Amino acid sequence: MTTDTIFYTQITSIIVFLLALFSIYRLLVENKDSVIQVLKERIQDRDDKIISLESQTPNALTNALSLRIKIAIDEVERLKADKNIQMDEVKLKQNELGVLKERLNFLSALIQEAGLICEKCGATRTHHDFVPIYSNSGDREIEAEIEYTQYACGRLLQDGEEKETCSN
Ligand SMILES: [Zn+2]
Repeated sequence: MTTDTIFYTQITSIIVFLLALFSIYRLLVENKDSVIQVLKERIQDRDDKIISLESQTPNALTNALSLRIKIAIDEVERLKADKNIQMDEVKLKQNELGVLKERLNFLSALIQEAGLICEKCGATRTHHDFVPIYSNSGDREIEAEIEYTQYACGRLLQDGEEKETCSN
């Protein structure tokens, strides 16, 4: 599996996880007429955002995931404050949140390791390419590749060596 495949597999599993998590929230508040409408609207809004995530950059994606974690934390707090909801349910949600945070940390590390963002300022990668080069050694022709990585901040790496510095 390539790093990109691992990356997108992670994103897919997180999105599936989030959808499952929010449908549990919906079930939890089913008997709360006053809040269900608000939550329904929020869930719809979130569904729309998750769909639009696929076209976003890895950096925007981690920001969006962080925001979702914050929203989920707020909802756990609200569930805690609701005396009619079992503490077991709240604990379950908190455990799920823990898993979600671990996944986000893993994803962030993966984005960093894969070179998808500038390690100095976090700008997104705009260009990545392997350019073949040919040279002669005696009577043999040698073929090699040079890896070019360009970031939105202007940073340019050639085989991991910095050729242009980060402008931020
Ligand atoms: Zn940079």
